[in-house]
Amino acid sequence: MRVLLTGGAGYIGSHTALVLLDHGHEVVVLDDFSNSSREAVRRVEELSGSRVPVIEVDLADRERALAALADVEFDAAIHCAGLKAVGESVAQPSRYYRVNLDSTLTLLDVMRERGVSKLVFSSSATVYGDPAYVPQDEQHQVGVGLTNPYGWSKFMNEQIIRDAQAAWPELGAVLLRYFNPVGAHPSGRIGEDPSGIPNNLMPFIAQVAVGVRERLSVFGDTYPTPDGTGVRDYIHVMDLAEGHVAALERIEAGVVSYNLGSGTGSSVLDVVSAFEAASGRPIPYDVVPPRPGDVAEVVANPAKANTELDWRTTRSLADACRDTWAWQSANPSGYGA
Ligand code: UDP
Repeated sequence: MRVLLTGGAGYIGSHTALVLLDHGHEVVVLDDFSNSSREAVRRVEELSGSRVPVIEVDLADRERALAALADVEFDAAIHCAGLKAVGESVAQPSRYYRVNLDSTLTLLDVMRERGVSKLVFSSSATVYGDPAYVPQDEQHQVGVGLTNPYGWSKFMNEQIIRDAQAAWPELGAVLLRYFNPVGAHPSGRIGEDPSGIPNNLMPFIAQVAVGVRERLSVFGDTYPTPDGTGVRDYIHVMDLAEGHVAALERIEAGVVSYNLGSGTGSSVLDVVSAFEAASGRPIPYDVVPPRPGDVAEVVANPAKANTELDWRTTRSLADACRDTWAWQSANPSGYGA
């Protein structure tokens, strides 16, 4: 298939591009490079030996996006483009809603007009809100206790896609609810390149290990978890990327959601130890008060994706730390180096 990959220069998009190319698909990247780098696409071309056309446009800018896509042929879309910083979304709600919702509305309109009926959407376990139980399956309630516009925008996008499908029954859409993506391509050539101070645990730890930051702040150690620190389901980004391709290749008319997670929880201190082992560097840390909006434990039940997509994670937290370290140590300033 010829796949329009929005946000294809970003962290998840670039790894997904590589796996799509490895599976014999063609990729057209659409990105506005507001939070990503052309260098990522160049390195995907280098790793794959394939050419990857790039459309530089903000998908939320409807007129420009329609013009930029006018001559672009594609059979399916994977929609990864969007803003994703939780704290920033609280400070800039209208920007988050505009970018994250308008981009989906534009894409759906283009797809309908062209008769392109296959869509994979980057959603998030954040749609589950306050966990009513752990591990969470796809039947878990959604939209209850969401604490920030980023999370609401994922929830609203899921609803927009369901409504679009109700009005256009040929549409086949897969909502992929990511748990905590970490790691990098094992080559160390592509990886996560956050702008500014990383919000997420793994990139922050990687920057401590490489000496860009001094110490990690551990957000709370009195949660009801084995060591008191927050527990999450970390999924290697290459496993996540393979999940997109598995979903794409099995799309049928209708809307279906899948958890992409490992089913295994790891604490903040588990991640610290695993990264120290992988890098051979100490990760000094201080325990500080919990971060507002954080919950004790978020872990996927990935059984539905395992069965219906014939997909499962094959890479461990240790693998993710090794690959993150390969990326971070070779690219201490990310793509800007
Ligand atoms: N965390 C931390 N220090 C940091 C960043 C994150 O202790 O600098 C913790 C956070 O409280 C949570 C876990 O690490 O328990 C994963 O946080 P992250 O922001 O990576 O992902 P989230 O699960 O919040 O989406």
